[in-house]
Amino acid sequence: MEKRILIIGSLNMDMVVEMENMPLIGETILGKNLSYIPGGKGANQTCAVGKTGGDVVMLGCVGDDGMGETLVKNLTESGADTSYIVKVKGEPTGMAFIYVNEEGDNSIVVVSGANFCCDVAYLKKNDFLFKEAGYVMLQMEIPYESVFYAIKRAKELGKTVILNPAPAPDTLPEDIWDKLDYITPNETELVKLGKSIGSCTLDVEKNAGKLLEKGVKNVLVTLGEKGALLINKKGSILYPARKVEAVDTTAAGDCFNGAFVTALSQGKEEGEAIFFANTASSIAVTRKGAQSSIPSKEEVACLVE
Ligand code: ADP
Repeated sequence: MEKRILIIGSLNMDMVVEMENMPLIGETILGKNLSYIPGGKGANQTCAVGKTGGDVVMLGCVGDDGMGETLVKNLTESGADTSYIVKVKGEPTGMAFIYVNEEGDNSIVVVSGANFCCDVAYLKKNDFLFKEAGYVMLQMEIPYESVFYAIKRAKELGKTVILNPAPAPDTLPEDIWDKLDYITPNETELVKLGKSIGSCTLDVEKNAGKLLEKGVKNVLVTLGEKGALLINKKGSILYPARKVEAVDTTAAGDCFNGAFVTALSQGKEEGEAIFFANTASSIAVTRKGAQSSIPSKEEVACLVE
């Protein structure tokens, strides 16, 4: 039977400004183009579950402004239950200001805004959503205190907990590791996590081994065009990516995480779920954008079956 997925995380509006050269301090320049792109890792992953056919509800906060409304509307259209997302009065919706020059280099300033109102009191108020869910998925763009509370509460209730440790924290508290059924870093995030527990190597398997020693059940590392590597007590298995012509890898990891949990929640075996996630994100990287690049369940099904 299909189980509900609870995602707790961020919603941001990405404002991408294209320009010839980055402005210097004190300089005013004219930009070439401005686009508003719905983002935030929590929202992207929720959108990915919604589009790939999972039953998902999101907890998160936006400001009481037009941007927030657009973000929530977008998520609702993906099929997610957004009824418990809060519009916080007096706070701006989370925003990322992204400057991109002609060479494609970027500079990014993130204003977390309402995302930091996603506090423990709000999570406690919505405790029934933890109880209803089979899977609880988190990232690191809301207050850490809330992330750690949610992990502990979900585990206390016997739920499957998935942490996408992005942006990578300096470390995780000692009492968190053994509550993670899956941790899903990319290679850079894994190196940072490994370093935080005394593993100074770039070797994926060695770093993952350290996380397993801490009590994590499964380390699922995304490796970009190489695919994804699952490492647990039984050993490690590489699931290669589909070969495609990538044009934009924005939100590839978010698409992977969302599609992975969709497949698990529908009773697919771990390996099948990773294959499904690789397939979904291989489609996403062939299109521009973040949430708009995520494929529908029908598009993924065409390639999986
Ligand atoms: P992140 O976006 O978090 O850095 P990755 O770059 O590891 O994550 O990508 C996540 C997933 O997206 C990969 O595991 C893979 O399935 C898919 N992917 C990313 N880049 C490519 C690519 N060039 N070709 C095919 N699949 C890709």
